[in-house]
Amino acid sequence: MKEQLYKLVLPTPFAVGDVNVYIVKGQSVTLIDAGVKTKEGWEAFIRQLAQLGLSITDIDQVVLTHHHPDHVGLLDFFDHNVRVIGHEKNEPWISQDPSFFTWYDQFFEKLFERAGVDKSFQFYLRKLRASLKYSCKRSLTSSVKEGDKIDGLTDWRVLEVPGHAQSHIALYHENNELLIGGDLLLHHISSNPLIEPPINQNEPRAKSLLQYNNSLKRLLELPISCVYAGHGQEVTNVHELVEERLTKQRDRAMKILQLLKHQPLTAFDICKELFPAVYEKELGLTMSETIGQLDFLEERGEIDIEEGNHLVYSARA
Ligand SMILES: [Zn+2]
Repeated sequence: MKEQLYKLVLPTPFAVGDVNVYIVKGQSVTLIDAGVKTKEGWEAFIRQLAQLGLSITDIDQVVLTHHHPDHVGLLDFFDHNVRVIGHEKNEPWISQDPSFFTWYDQFFEKLFERAGVDKSFQFYLRKLRASLKYSCKRSLTSSVKEGDKIDGLTDWRVLEVPGHAQSHIALYHENNELLIGGDLLLHHISSNPLIEPPINQNEPRAKSLLQYNNSLKRLLELPISCVYAGHGQEVTNVHELVEERLTKQRDRAMKILQLLKHQPLTAFDICKELFPAVYEKELGLTMSETIGQLDFLEERGEIDIEEGNHLVYSARA
């Protein structure tokens, strides 16, 4: 039986707009990603499934590209016998493990304090995980890692591509040069390398921007004619767009380096400078972006970091 791939476009309440989920219909019916948990999302999903001649009970398994609410939320509306497959790092997020979120709060409080974020921003800290109400409370049935194949999807191979999320995977179809990419590479916007608390509390945080760049660079080594993305249209100029994203990121880092040549600054100072209009509302996103760029400059040996009450960055002479 020849395998068919279908794209379904579902609404989300987030700034990113619609999310794409995919049905791969072959020996099994696999759903890749599962929209946000809203009535509108679910109705759009059921309606588009029906247009394919499918209903919810035809779906054998759901594969998650990563744990963000817009990719997992609808799982809550699925029957419990559907298989849920993804990287093991999805688990504390999709099950909303209370002990993990206690740690999450501590982690961000400490991270932001060291980054020089004003105490008056405690309020925004509490808002960081407000989007979880659109997520789900489910568990993985089984986990996958780099190189794995998934039953019912045997032409596709799992690539671990962390950065945007620590749980991020993509599915690569070597023969047809296709990639189901989640939020790894989007056509119209660059993907945020979000900072996350490490699942193992004794480990340092992952440097998500550096990871993300490495994940993007992996795409340069693979023949890929089309990326089916988590948002927006398909990407067909894959290598060109990867180069463009990497160049833009480097340009942004160099802008920060210029600021640091004038005076030493904390990450929060830089964040306010870069994102004056949105940093308050989008503290998590903008601080992740800023700290990511500083990780990049640190890795290149461009900056020095002084440890005091806060981390203070300066351009290396
Ligand atoms: Zn995402």
